[in-house]
Amino acid sequence: MNDNLLEIQGLRKYFPLKKGFFGGTQGKVRAVDGISFSIPRGRTFGLVGESGSGKTTVARAILRLIEPSEGRILWQGKDICRVLGSEMKEIRRNMQMIFQDPHSSLNPRKTVFQSVAEPLVIHERLKGKKLREQVEELLALVGLKREHMFRYPHELSGGQKQRVGISRALSLHPRLLILDEPTSALDVSVQAQMLNFLESLQEKLSLTYLYISHNLAVIRYACDRVGVMYLGRILEAGNTEEVFSAPRHPYTRALVSAVPLPQAEQPAKAILLEGDIPSATHIPSGCRFHTRCPERIGPICAETEPSIRFFPDGSQVTCHLYG
Ligand code: SF4
Repeated sequence: MNDNLLEIQGLRKYFPLKKGFFGGTQGKVRAVDGISFSIPRGRTFGLVGESGSGKTTVARAILRLIEPSEGRILWQGKDICRVLGSEMKEIRRNMQMIFQDPHSSLNPRKTVFQSVAEPLVIHERLKGKKLREQVEELLALVGLKREHMFRYPHELSGGQKQRVGISRALSLHPRLLILDEPTSALDVSVQAQMLNFLESLQEKLSLTYLYISHNLAVIRYACDRVGVMYLGRILEAGNTEEVFSAPRHPYTRALVSAVPLPQAEQPAKAILLEGDIPSATHIPSGCRFHTRCPERIGPICAETEPSIRFFPDGSQVTCHLYG
């Protein structure tokens, strides 16, 4: 039996680039440019990369907030790009997204009760005592008390707001949570608490997680497997501990060298990448990382796109250094 809850195969999302307000199309933005990964039930996969690497576009495509240009998104083996109407509605209930900024994801004019109750009223038609009980249960699940129920978002801390967003997402009993930078808007002091809480929630509810973050420490803490994204592609993927303790791809090496790690693993010197990530409208020829790569090995890097090399331990890397 296929144990993957979600499988992404060759996903591409290109946006047309318009010439002025009324103008025609002049090229395209290759936001996601052929990525594949899978997440077994109950496990956690992390997509990590700089901003502009295409991570959030992947999440939006999975939720069908945007239509992929190419590729397949398999939910329990079924390609959801071909599913319509009530079947898609049902699948969408099973996938919920937790946003980076808990404040802007809540309506400032609604109390916690109103925000958490809303999906239950719309989708489950709950009301009265049942509705109140259900909201109380959801708030207890995320560690909030009854007294928080009638507060407005501005009366809550960042961590409490994030918990309200999570309880709202949990109200429809999803199986997959997509966590888009779930801790980056929180105080450093509560970031670890939030990660621990998400871990215990996953265990309690048998949830599957897709983490999206630029923060390697978050991904390393939370994820079983990781995909390192750069300009719409996954350049390296594998078991998180292995990828971070012995990165194979020069881009991963540079990212890892720039964050504090246990002393034994810390590279002697941070590897500084030249320049910014190029625009997704002009993806460099050959290896897309060659314009910034400190380990370029000659013209092949600028001329020929490397193919994916798979290793026996289940990891993969896209770089000419590996033949
Ligand atoms: Fe660097 Fe060449 Fe590998 Fe690209 S293919 S990452 S440029 S060594």
